Order: sequence, then structure tokens, then C-alpha cells
Amino acid sequence: MSDDNILNVTNHDRDSAALRYVYPVVSRRSGGVSVGINLNTNNACNWRCIYCQVPGLIRGTAPTIDLAVLENELRVFLSELLHGDFMRNRVPQGLQRINDIALSGNGEPTSAGEFVQVIALIARMRNELALPDAVKTLLITNGSLLYRNLVQQGLRDMAKINGEVWFKLDRASEAGMKRVNDTHMSLNKVRDNLIAAIECCPTWLQTCWFALDSEPPSLQDEDDYLELVGALLRDGHQPQGVLLYSLARPSLQAEAPRLSALPLEHLQGFAERISKLGLPVKVTP
Ligand code: SF4
Repeated sequence: MSDDNILNVTNHDRDSAALRYVYPVVSRRSGGVSVGINLNTNNACNWRCIYCQVPGLIRGTAPTIDLAVLENELRVFLSELLHGDFMRNRVPQGLQRINDIALSGNGEPTSAGEFVQVIALIARMRNELALPDAVKTLLITNGSLLYRNLVQQGLRDMAKINGEVWFKLDRASEAGMKRVNDTHMSLNKVRDNLIAAIECCPTWLQTCWFALDSEPPSLQDEDDYLELVGALLRDGHQPQGVLLYSLARPSLQAEAPRLSALPLEHLQGFAERISKLGLPVKVTP
């Protein structure tokens, strides 16, 4: 097998396994293979983050999910990972383990009308194929639809299959969210959605911190963030921690030329302030 066939750790191409919903990502950070599920095959999201890396992003929701196709793809691909040649032939040594099944695609996964059925399907596959309990079920979400009962139900079901939610919180002011996520969501709604997530399933905050027109986020941006998270903690709502990162790959939005990554020391400075609240912070430059 030539090197071309080894899945590169930076290859996040959702077509790399030529399936409709399921795609593999090899992650050095997690130390294994993430089995991605992309429910937004139409590249539609209800937000438009200016750093978004989805090609041809449009506003909207996930299309109707063909659950039979998804189930078949997940069964075939997980079986291949567990019993076939994929790991040996296409994954670098040292990373040949399944780390997680991740709902993370080209848009907001919880916008799928079949979200609860998708979680049930993942649970069924995990059981049928006797996946180790240590394999996580991840949801990467902007959190905006967490007020919906069915989405909360999905998160409660996820919690039973080693679930973990990564809840996007890039800025904690309405002006900041408008600037970075291009959404008009109120801060009260963000807070309520976040509390709902934390109550349903272990939840990490996922925060992208970068420079816009060479200006890093302001001290006020940092204070807003600390105020929101501090108030949550005081009220007894405990996230697992914060995943703080900068720009990993180039944005595919019109603002791309105006964005730049921040140096590690800058992220570490903010991480130190967050840590003082008593929350673990994982920093990725
Ligand atoms: S929430 Fe995610 S998919 Fe949606 S615009 Fe933002 S980065 Fe892109």
C-alpha cells in the first residue's frame, strides 16, 4: 500500500471513504480514528461563522436523513475498522484505534429532524458490534437548537453511550456573536441552551479565539466570556471544561483574508484567566 493510501492526519475530506454520511478522520490529538457522521450533506447551517471551513456553506437545515443508508454505512464502516484492513492499510501506526463516533459535519447536526433516531441508531450499532465502552459518542454543535425537547432527548440518550457535547461558545456578547457567528441569538437564549446541554449530557465549551483585521479579541471579549461562564458555575451548572483553539484550517467564508490565528502564548494567557474560575482548559494553537 503506497503512502497515498494512508489517511493523513490532516485529511478531513468527507469524501475520503466515498460514503454519503460516514467519513473517517485520523486525529493525532485524540490518538485514534474518529468515525464522523455528516448529517448536513447539503452544506446547510443556521449560523455562518466567519471562520467556517464548510465549502459552499448555505443557510438552512439538514435534509431528510435516509436512516437505512446511514445504518448500513455505519455498520459496514465500523465492521471494517474492527475486522478489516482499513486500520492496517490506511491509518498510521500508533493511531490504529477507534476513538469516537462524532456527529460533526457540514452544518448543524441537531437541525436534522431525525436527530433522536440517529442517536438511537448509533446506540444500536455500538451494541450490535460490541464497540468498547471507551469509544465516545461526540456531538459538535453550535447549541442553538438545544431548547428543543427532541434535541434534549437525543442528548440524554447520548449520555448513556459515553456521550460528550462540544458546545460552541466563541463570544459571550450579542455583538460578538453577531460579528463572529453571524447570528442574532440573545445571550439569555445561549445561556438557557447551554444549561440544557449541561443537564442532559457531559458538555465541553468549544471556543475559537482568533484575530480579525489583525486585532485579537478585546479584554472586554474576555471579560464577557468569564462573566457568562462564572455565572453558570455560581448557579451550579458545571461544564466539563473549555476547548480553546485558534484557526486550524483556512476559512472558506468571504472574511477569510481578514482572519489570522493567534500565537500559543495569547491563547495560554486567556486560558489562565478561565482556569481561575476552576474549569479545566485544553489549548490547541
Ligand atoms: S456552526 Fe459550524 S457549520 Fe455552522 S457556520 Fe459555524 S462553523 Fe460552520
